[in-house]
Amino acid sequence: MEHSPDHRPAHPEGLSDAFDDLLANNKKFAASFDQHGFDGIAHAGVLMITCMDSRIVPLEMVGLTFGDAKIIRTPGGRVTTSALAGCIAGVHLLNVNRIMVIPHSRCAMAATDDDVIIDHIRNASGADASWVRFGASADQRRTLHRDVEKLRNHPLVGNRAVVGGFYYDVDTGLLERWD
Ligand SMILES: [Zn+2]
Repeated sequence: MEHSPDHRPAHPEGLSDAFDDLLANNKKFAASFDQHGFDGIAHAGVLMITCMDSRIVPLEMVGLTFGDAKIIRTPGGRVTTSALAGCIAGVHLLNVNRIMVIPHSRCAMAATDDDVIIDHIRNASGADASWVRFGASADQRRTLHRDVEKLRNHPLVGNRAVVGGFYYDVDTGLLERWD
């Protein structure tokens, strides 16, 4: 497969070998995999909702490892409808008793509003994403507070887990408690 210098496939659509490098890596991973039969509960009782950002390493940044936590990643680390469903399943079925909501610095979703992101997409590729809801907000503190309160006040979540709001700095690696 041809790669451009930044490792993006030269032809992103329809190539049957587009995932070959990843599947080859997986064979090596599986060759030394030794967690057969491990259960799927959160052993540290932790569920994290954070952004899809590639600079965030959720487990490592709080000293957790395999099997410890549930991780839900959404654009901006927002508590979306399906993130909320994950929290409900987590606290009732998967041993979750602490929920961390973690937006971060220099997040693409911290643009002024969705219209700005839609403009960025139009400028970058010419595509019309005007029908997509991104949930962008420049006021991350207010948005985080709203998301954390949504979980604390939810009848299926609030009495089963402690909920905290945190802000991750992608340049220092530090988490700060915001809510
Ligand atoms: Zn982000």
